[in-house]
Amino acid sequence: MPKPTPSNGIVRVESNVYLVSGSNTNWVIVKDGDRCTLVDTGYPGDRDAVLGSLAALGLDPRDVAAVLVTHAHNDHIGAAEHLRAQYDVPVLMHQEEVPHARRDFLDQVSVGQVVAQAWRPGVLPWAVHALRAGGTTHVPVCEPQPFPVQGALDLPGAPVPVHTPGHTKGHCAYHLPESGILITGDALVTAHPTSRISGPQLLPDMFHTDRARALDSLALLENLDAGLLLPGHGPVHHGSAKEAATTAREHAVG
Ligand SMILES: [Zn+2]
Ligand SMILES: [Zn+2]
Repeated sequence: MPKPTPSNGIVRVESNVYLVSGSNTNWVIVKDGDRCTLVDTGYPGDRDAVLGSLAALGLDPRDVAAVLVTHAHNDHIGAAEHLRAQYDVPVLMHQEEVPHARRDFLDQVSVGQVVAQAWRPGVLPWAVHALRAGGTTHVPVCEPQPFPVQGALDLPGAPVPVHTPGHTKGHCAYHLPESGILITGDALVTAHPTSRISGPQLLPDMFHTDRARALDSLALLENLDAGLLLPGHGPVHHGSAKEAATTAREHAVG
């Protein structure tokens, strides 16, 4: 097991909620006693960092009640199959994301699409990192599971999945109503190496399966009662979901 390192990108955003920054992607740990919910798992190359972040919080991989997947891009499911296969951790997601996680198909930006955008600032260094971190590695989740119930899940933090399609078909944000926290995944981010702006925004166009739908999905986030947003990429956003969605929409049309 990797040794816990206190400075491994862990930000305590609430008494029991931690945002962890991996090499380029975030994941979230929601603790409840000696158990936790883990939302996303970084790139394949982030596996030791994921296990290290659990260890730093006094958690063993067996203490993970479930991995919740926002969506099945490689930079979010990198360690999911390892946790499932080695420690019997269930890996849960929206039913529309299940075949994607199994890699019945891959709905992810292609190398060709990235090359076509390589002239844009930030794209080339990002692509080099993505390749090194396992961005194109084949990392299916062999037995992904759809949520067992509608509404709040019986897991640490009682997260409520919010289906926000567009980035991928089955993308979900996760709302923690009791703490006023919204884990937005890639439906709304606050920074990205390929973006020139900071603050609430959609990812650049090439990353979305259906950008128009991703833009529409901002409306599904903005009425949730949250004052703290934890994105899939970029730092914590202190502000309401409403204000963040409005800002992201302004950037998207501007
Ligand atoms: Zn993504
Ligand atoms: Zn991502």
